[in-house]
Amino acid sequence: MLVLTLIFWNRIFMSEREHVVGTLYVVATPIGHLGDLTRRAEDVLKAVQIVAAEDTRRTSVLLGHLGVRVPELLSYHEHNKAKLTGVLLARLLAGDDIAVVSDAGTPLINDPGAELVAAAHSAGVPTVPIPGASAVTAALSVCPFPCYTFRYIGFLPAKKSARRKSLQAALAGSDALVFFEAPHRIAETIKDLAACTERRVLVARELTKKFETLTVAPANELDGVAIEPRGEFVLIVEAGKEVEQASVDMDRAMRVLLTHLSPSQAAKCAATLFEQKKSAMYELALRLNESE
Ligand code: SAM
Repeated sequence: MLVLTLIFWNRIFMSEREHVVGTLYVVATPIGHLGDLTRRAEDVLKAVQIVAAEDTRRTSVLLGHLGVRVPELLSYHEHNKAKLTGVLLARLLAGDDIAVVSDAGTPLINDPGAELVAAAHSAGVPTVPIPGASAVTAALSVCPFPCYTFRYIGFLPAKKSARRKSLQAALAGSDALVFFEAPHRIAETIKDLAACTERRVLVARELTKKFETLTVAPANELDGVAIEPRGEFVLIVEAGKEVEQASVDMDRAMRVLLTHLSPSQAAKCAATLFEQKKSAMYELALRLNESE
């Protein structure tokens, strides 16, 4: 009887142990120079059962360069993600390790992967970042003006009026602005920038590639600078001095308010005074309260 019970418990214990879920690796790949793939990314791509790629042809070139033959290379992009997310999750739950890669750079930064990461998280599947290249961080790393805090907004809208509106709204914030632009719209965007601001702009073209170019000029002077409308672009706009001043004024006013009022009351007053959201002012009040 004792032996039978032990066998029974052993079976349950073993079957539980045997059922190990896989891991989802979110792997950054080069944005141009193949030497930018990290050693860890290479190890992961060599070890997983499935590579889920935005563009299997481009990823095949990368894998070919590494001399890697992955057991399964699946296409995972904008148009099949609804169907494929479930399929990939099932494979993770069945124990397969999967690496998700985009065409270039870091997945999820304007690239597919978000749904799969969310699904894995909800299902308790471990998700591991394999960091590396991204056009955003590459551009920030060579920006000659300060961008300690920055706001990344992906691509601006394609339509002219919407683009200008969105640019103006983004420039009203207190951080440097980072966005992508397509070569056929770069000239228009430079005109839009000139119309909206005089702040300095970094135009980073073809980062890590043969024709890498960095151009820095005040927005209103950029139009006169020759920028080849070919290749890939990231733009960074300097944080506005006027915004910085406004933020200094806001901090000062909030400090005074906090000497007489609770953070919540001070936030309410400051929101009216500076035409800001109450939640943002409440955050500021708490931050200043903590730093006192
Ligand atoms: N996930 C990617 C990343 O982390 O870099 C970004 C994907 S987004 C769809 C592609 C855009 O990134 C391009 O249209 C271009 O604006 C920018 N980009 C990508 N590679 C670049 C490079 N080498 N130089 C400049 N911009 C680049």
